[in-house]
Amino acid sequence: MEKGIGIAGIAGRMGRLLAEEVTAAGAKLVGGIDRPDVKADAKLFADIAALAAASDVVLDFTHASTAAAHGKALAAAGTAWVLGTTGLSAADEAVVAETAKQVAVVYAPNFSAGVNLMLALAERMAAALPAEQYDAEIVEMHHHFKKDAPSGTALGLANALAKGRGVNLKDVACYGREGMTGERPSGQIGIHAVRGGDVVGDHVVMFATDGERVEITHRASSRECFANGALKAAAWLPGRKPGLYNMRNVLNLD
Ligand code: NAD
Repeated sequence: MEKGIGIAGIAGRMGRLLAEEVTAAGAKLVGGIDRPDVKADAKLFADIAALAAASDVVLDFTHASTAAAHGKALAAAGTAWVLGTTGLSAADEAVVAETAKQVAVVYAPNFSAGVNLMLALAERMAAALPAEQYDAEIVEMHHHFKKDAPSGTALGLANALAKGRGVNLKDVACYGREGMTGERPSGQIGIHAVRGGDVVGDHVVMFATDGERVEITHRASSRECFANGALKAAAWLPGRKPGLYNMRNVLNLD
């Protein structure tokens, strides 16, 4: 890497940790961007275009509302993008896909190695456990500051389950339940968000049938696992062709 690593959202919870980890890993921290009223220890650039021009790769953990503008700026600068922001709309994701035609992008709702292994396992379990017998439910819990629900990771898990079952998530998803919902239809994928305290991120995928239940659980106790994964992605990107990659690609889990 010639120029180094830039961080979008450098004053945020993830951004601050990433700045520490980039330096601790001996990589070059170019600086970052954040909202105009926010201070940071590292160099602050005027905007994403200036940061992109100065960086080989930008680690982006900001807010979904930034994704489209950031994608366009990174594509114009030819700068690789590690995108961790969650809560992107379908239109935002279309911009991410367009950006990936110009530059290499690693986009993941969760950068932890454990969660990405869980995604691969969840897909295999969904393929192996018949939908008409095994009820699949996902429960996630996060700190009370979290702005989007369900978490990007829970949606990633739900998509992995749908893929394993060969169905479209939108046809089978059930986001929470309330009132006289009737009996649970088989094939449904339930997704439930719990919020409270300082929980960094818990995810449980369960398959329940008559007489047994099998569950896989991941609990993040600090944000280090996300920061480590984002740095792995940044180290993996140089020399990659333009394309949309995920952490399963980076960790070679497929
Ligand atoms: P945070 O609110 O602490 O930090 C976000 C930072 O982005 C803030 O400093 C904010 O000022 C800045 N920001 C917001 N809008 C901006 C804009 N228009 N331009 C520049 N900077 C802007 O949040 P966080 O906990 O660090 O999480 C940030 C994002 O990353 C969220 O979407 C969160 O869900 C996601 N996240 C993803 C992973 C993962 O592994 N993919 C892990 C943790 C968090």
